[in-house]
Amino acid sequence: MTELVIPAPAIPTIPTSTGGAFPVRRVYCIGRNYAAHVVEMGGDPNREAPFFFQKNPNNLDASGEFPYPPHSSDVHHEVELVVALKSGGSNISVEDALDHVWGYAVSLDMTRRDLQGEAKKAGRPWETGKAFERSGPIGPLQPAADLGEMNNGRIELRVNGQVRQEGDLNQMIWKVPEMIAFLSEYFELQAGDVIMSGTPSGVGAVVKGDQMDAMIEGLGTLSVKVV
Ligand code: MN
Repeated sequence: MTELVIPAPAIPTIPTSTGGAFPVRRVYCIGRNYAAHVVEMGGDPNREAPFFFQKNPNNLDASGEFPYPPHSSDVHHEVELVVALKSGGSNISVEDALDHVWGYAVSLDMTRRDLQGEAKKAGRPWETGKAFERSGPIGPLQPAADLGEMNNGRIELRVNGQVRQEGDLNQMIWKVPEMIAFLSEYFELQAGDVIMSGTPSGVGAVVKGDQMDAMIEGLGTLSVKVV
């Protein structure tokens, strides 16, 4: 085997409720997947093809702390259901899609909204707004075998005890199997890929010191302090 010329970076992992750790290969994020959020972001709520962007695998962070990032004064919370794949492929059918799911978790797609807004206006990519250090607080992955299909259930985000975002997983425009099928037409999905499935309406800014409690029925609460 060829010797590595520098030490290999650690493989990012997500803790699981079974005690093991889930290794992460890629992080896909779906944009505008709840109609009320499409409206609040100035979009057309009619069903359009889903679109995706990516975070970096090592942006996921299960520490329970979110360091307020530099170069922004408008950092928003987006509570999202995460889907983690145990296998993949290309051109996966909607019918077969759930066979590839290992489990689910609660996450936050933290966003420098000011930088994302500038990028949108200029027709530039979103990485500075979306794919920064520790921008993906995440709770433990829980096996799909225990949960069943996560196609309904309350999803909410409280800041300092006050409800900011609320919705139901059944309001997703593109359901979990459809997301997997769609993504697999463009990318070869593999074990270790995770999908952040979009956020309900009510996104808003946080400041240092805020306590975020993200909850999805069946998965429990992810508590994250803005530091
Ligand atoms: Mn999002």
